[in-house]
Amino acid sequence: MSNRTLSIDDRLYEYLLGTSVREPEVLRRLREETASQPLARMQIAPEQGQFMALLMQIAGVRRAIEVGTFTGYSALSMVLAMPDDGHMVCCDINEEWASVAQRYWAEAGVQDRIDLRLAPALDTLDELVEAAAGQFDFAFIDADKQNYTAYYDKCMQLVRSGGLIAIDNTLWSGAVADPANDEASTRAIRRFNDRLYHDDRINISLVPIGDGLTLAYKR
Ligand code: CA
Repeated sequence: MSNRTLSIDDRLYEYLLGTSVREPEVLRRLREETASQPLARMQIAPEQGQFMALLMQIAGVRRAIEVGTFTGYSALSMVLAMPDDGHMVCCDINEEWASVAQRYWAEAGVQDRIDLRLAPALDTLDELVEAAAGQFDFAFIDADKQNYTAYYDKCMQLVRSGGLIAIDNTLWSGAVADPANDEASTRAIRRFNDRLYHDDRINISLVPIGDGLTLAYKR
């Protein structure tokens, strides 16, 4: 028995999936279609989608924002976890990925509840800060790592006090702890993690699910 977070080998991972992940069929098909794409690793894992959905249900999220939508798996997981009057804004710049996302959102009957903005996310976030500062319950950041701090700063303006910001890839395949890794994206995530650690406006937890998911609760 160990009280440290386990490293999960393939056998244990299959067990975890097989005994806890209840992925809706439309999400499974979206995940499988995305798996054939060259950048498939950008899609969150099903246990992470289910974890975020559970968090949103606990928090009673009705208004969410996503920075970095890719082919729409995380957004669909999130919107399905919200009540019928729940609504989200999705930011991405890639039309090809967005067309896959929109096809599955329509299939799931939730396309009217997702406002997809195909534009640089910082522009969209600036517009939202003008129009709806403090009105979001939840934000998920999963886009280009160099801009993580900028996305976070905007999301802190958009999320209400008592709201939650979830940030993906904060363990970056372990590279953040590898002193020999000096890549720009690795350095950006290290700086970002350090920034959050010292930000006393939030309570945090870095959850080792997927590639590392940091949760920041805005006080
Ligand atoms: Ca990610």
